[in-house]
Amino acid sequence: MVALSTRGTTPRFVGGCVRDALLDRPVKDIDIATSDAPEIVLEKLAAAGLKSVPTGLKHGTVTAIANGQPFEVTTLRRDVETDGRHAEVAFTDDWLEDAGRRDLTFNAIYCDLDGTLYDPVDGLADLRAGAVRFVGDADDRIQEDVLRILRFFRFFAHYSSGDIDAAGLKACKDHAHQLPRLSAERISAEMLRLLSALDPVPTVQLMAEASVLSQILPGDQHINNLRQLVKIEVDAGSPDPLRRLFVLGQPDKPDAKTFAASFRLSNVQKIRVLALADRMDNLSPDLPDRDLRKLLYIRGVEAALDASYLNQAKAAKDRAGWTGLRQRIDRWRRPQFPLKGQDVLDLGLPAGPQVGELVKAMQAWWIAGEFNADRDACIAELKRLI
Ligand code: ATP
Ligand code: MG
Repeated sequence: MVALSTRGTTPRFVGGCVRDALLDRPVKDIDIATSDAPEIVLEKLAAAGLKSVPTGLKHGTVTAIANGQPFEVTTLRRDVETDGRHAEVAFTDDWLEDAGRRDLTFNAIYCDLDGTLYDPVDGLADLRAGAVRFVGDADDRIQEDVLRILRFFRFFAHYSSGDIDAAGLKACKDHAHQLPRLSAERISAEMLRLLSALDPVPTVQLMAEASVLSQILPGDQHINNLRQLVKIEVDAGSPDPLRRLFVLGQPDKPDAKTFAASFRLSNVQKIRVLALADRMDNLSPDLPDRDLRKLLYIRGVEAALDASYLNQAKAAKDRAGWTGLRQRIDRWRRPQFPLKGQDVLDLGLPAGPQVGELVKAMQAWWIAGEFNADRDACIAELKRLI
């Protein structure tokens, strides 16, 4: 910020960092607006010995790296032409114009290095009131960029108190059919951020009523199941957006792959979704320890914890029981299978697919014996099998 405050320019913080600082919420990333053109920004950063990345020069964005932290520096701009997602921009030195191209009023509060606030579109009052409102005409703003529909609902889930803005909601409804134009990555990133709100259910309900949800979620929507899950997660202090997305869509095992693909989930996320769809119907507070240990060995801790929330959401109330089950899951330590392929070879068997099969059969025997057989017992059984 100091590096940019030379030659008579006064850059300002804007967006999430100002908004969240005003609410005493943790700040995620830092956005800075400046009247300098991007080339000047690059020059000033270089002069201060700071690293910079020309993230989106055409749109006026340069990422400055200071103390290992990225700062998005964007030149004041106005959108000249839009195609529903991408804007052609013109740089300006007019702060009001810059505010006019931002999405929501409380995302257009600026703050300079002295801590002075600039609030050209009355964002502060909306922020304090928990009112999520578009800057200017909602309909126009969504026509310019359909992503704003999802941002509107995301910010509603995280910042609102009270009713949703009627004009905003109507505009979202009117343009919901444009949502498939967004990339699946965008949609899933927005949805997951929305679902990480403490209680996203009222928002999701509104999205369904506005025909927004059906545009982004293939198949049926299970809002009641989501409601149950959210209650339990909040009570247990472990909300999880991906688990919530799964419950909302609730794909069966055969559909889980398509579901994961339709949201372009990462591999790690996909594995989790597939595990979620592969139900563990017997997982409940009264599952005996020995069955639980087997299940954990085969399915893993993460999948079992996920399943515990799904099953609890469907079960009759037994809060203490489910908490106890999760404590048992947390306490479990994976036992080490005492045999390796080499043990089979050491007994004189030739290398080949048979070796792997034998090890597998031995492991099944060891699991069935509740992990009690030690190495000697396993070798003895292996000899017997051979
Ligand atoms: P957070 O980073 O906490 O998610 P943010 O408000 O900082 O929230 P960013 O995506 O980092 O969100 O964007 C920074 C700012 O840029 C926003 O506050 C808003 O002023 C503006 N902005 C971002 N996306 C859009 C958009 N699609 N349309 C209009 N303005 C936008
Ligand atoms: Mg931000």
